Amino acid sequence: MDPITPPIDGGHKSTHNKIKELNMRNQTNKLKIIAILFLSFIGFTSSVMALKTSTEMRTIKKGKFTLNFICKSADFSEEINQKLIDTFFEVYPTLVKTYNKKSPKVVTFVVDPEYDGVAATSDDKVIFSVKYMSSHPGDIDVVTHEVMHIVQAYGQHSGMPGWVTEGIADYVRYAYGIDNAGAGWRLPDLSEKHNFQNSYRITARFFAWLELNHKGIIQKLDQAGRDKTYEEGAIWKKLTGKTIDELWSDYSKKPALS
Ligand SMILES: [Zn+2]
Repeated sequence: MDPITPPIDGGHKSTHNKIKELNMRNQTNKLKIIAILFLSFIGFTSSVMALKTSTEMRTIKKGKFTLNFICKSADFSEEINQKLIDTFFEVYPTLVKTYNKKSPKVVTFVVDPEYDGVAATSDDKVIFSVKYMSSHPGDIDVVTHEVMHIVQAYGQHSGMPGWVTEGIADYVRYAYGIDNAGAGWRLPDLSEKHNFQNSYRITARFFAWLELNHKGIIQKLDQAGRDKTYEEGAIWKKLTGKTIDELWSDYSKKPALS
């Protein structure tokens, strides 16, 4: 039985008692409200504390650049967290300076145990898979590839084909990556089965060859993505005097990168 619960009906009592009883009811209601508030507060505090342990955010600022870093897994290696952060500050400023000075100065990294892929970028945010990074701790230049997507910022309806976008990101990893060798990551040797549209590393190797023979072409190609001026039939001729098929044919005959 609740000792502070007043009688529901005090109709037969004197006016004085009724007033006293009403006061008591008010007090009781106040106590109930306080109790509810208190319990809500405890619930709120414990949920905030739970968030703290699983989605702690650190903000690291170096020069013009800021990284908001969230690791959603308490069990994830702190050493890998630090490598992701260090790689960002080592690579991103160079890519911004080289390709797109208007790139965001504030970037967010999320290390997510619920994300199934390797890594993904949208706008100024990169998600890394806990599972992938834990099993491939040396593959740190995933950062280099992903932050290049932030720099690219082609947006929707840019006309940039996926193979060019991904080819550039892997070319940049090849050219600016900090430890591709440590990760066992390399551009594959050209094979007869390859085509420029194969994307990722196969396209990246072709782009490395293009850059050797037409210095600055990757910067121009990347800029075309933001300017929305990529037209497959015209851009290659404009940049090199040759069509993409002619370029690939030249590359196939003499694919050396040095
Ligand atoms: Zn990519």
